[in-house]
Amino acid sequence: MDKNLETICIHGGWEPKKGEPQMLPIYQSTTFRYETSDQMARLFDLKDEGYFYTRLANPTNDAVAKKINALEGGVGCVLTSSGQAANFYAVFNICQAGDHFITSNTIYGGTFNLFGVTMNKLGTECTFVDPEWDDARIEKEFRPNTKCFFGETISNPGGNIFDIERFAKMAHKHGVPLIVDNTFATPINCRPFEWGCDIVTHSTTKYMDGHATQVGGCVVDSGNFDWEKYADKYPGLCTPDESYHGLTYTKAFGNKAYTTKLVSQLMRDLGSIPAPQNSFLLNLGLETLHLRMPRHCENALAVAEWLEKNPKVGWVNYAGLKSNKYYPLAQKYMPNGTCGVIAFGLKGTREDAIKFMDNLDFISIVTHVADARTCVLHPASHTHRQMSDEQLREAGVAPDLVRLSVGIENVNDIIADLQQAMDKM
Ligand SMILES: *Cc1c(COP(=O)(O)O)cnc(C)c1O
Repeated sequence: MDKNLETICIHGGWEPKKGEPQMLPIYQSTTFRYETSDQMARLFDLKDEGYFYTRLANPTNDAVAKKINALEGGVGCVLTSSGQAANFYAVFNICQAGDHFITSNTIYGGTFNLFGVTMNKLGTECTFVDPEWDDARIEKEFRPNTKCFFGETISNPGGNIFDIERFAKMAHKHGVPLIVDNTFATPINCRPFEWGCDIVTHSTTKYMDGHATQVGGCVVDSGNFDWEKYADKYPGLCTPDESYHGLTYTKAFGNKAYTTKLVSQLMRDLGSIPAPQNSFLLNLGLETLHLRMPRHCENALAVAEWLEKNPKVGWVNYAGLKSNKYYPLAQKYMPNGTCGVIAFGLKGTREDAIKFMDNLDFISIVTHVADARTCVLHPASHTHRQMSDEQLREAGVAPDLVRLSVGIENVNDIIADLQQAMDKM
């Protein structure tokens, strides 16, 4: 029976039978026991399914992966130890030394660096495009060795909305999959596969966990991209893998080829698996995701409307605001709300922004975003503090940009805290 998202949040992935624990157990074990040597051999040949070593699979991790897979509507999901690992694996699984890929330039700073600097050292090349450019200008960037296109449903920290359907069509026209980082929207507000996206990634550290207790990530495959149609472009999936007895992933695993390769090569060799304890905590968070997201959105909209009317505020970027240039796209992809993260600028200098933040009461200054507690970050004073105002603007970060992650406290208290901090500026 197909369940609704709210029910999947609670019951997905773990369905205990008679006498089994009602709550997902933490399988805190590196390894799993077998009775004959042949049983173990068949696992290593990928002929039987079963647990043998937690780097490759663990029952707690698997249950949580299954839940997220069901929420996104995929055919397979792999948990990773961070969102960074998820985005790296998602691309590197199909894009190796000598290959090229394209990404939106309004993406998370960590991903920007991963794609533009660290992966270059492994021999891939990445082109950054502005999603605001017209189709012809972006399409010029596709090359014969281009392997995928990447974007974020809602960009961190800017809050821009990615036109998933437009870029899915463009990617497919050029015979490559679209990968979307759906961290800020979560499947409660947007399911990118419904718009033609092929692979979804998450930093589960954010709303999915929702309580700032663990760092994690995941990669979900829709199973829709036809690798065999472009077999020359994706030899890793469509030709025999010598490190697995000459097995060909697309032939042996059908629409599970991409995730099976990701586990049996990248997880095997690079090993960014989450601890079962962390997956347990993530699962607790997921059980209330459908309750928290609407409240984050409701609170953030009220705060954004209040900021917009405030004489001390220079500008506000929140796609839920009718005045926002991304409002139409937000309505198309996320009619029930986008997320709790607002970007805004205070009139005045960097020092004024610092004074404002120092005056906050329960709203805390943290690097984190997207959890139950309202928090702020000022990139110019924190993550990007070595840069001059000019360098900041070049990097697409306004010197006065304050990232406000609106939590699920009472919204009147959130606004009162912002008000008293502004009064003291
Ligand atoms: C935080 C974040 C990441 C990185 O995730 P970590 O879990 O911190 O490694 C990637 N993408 C987006 C959109 C993020 O917000």
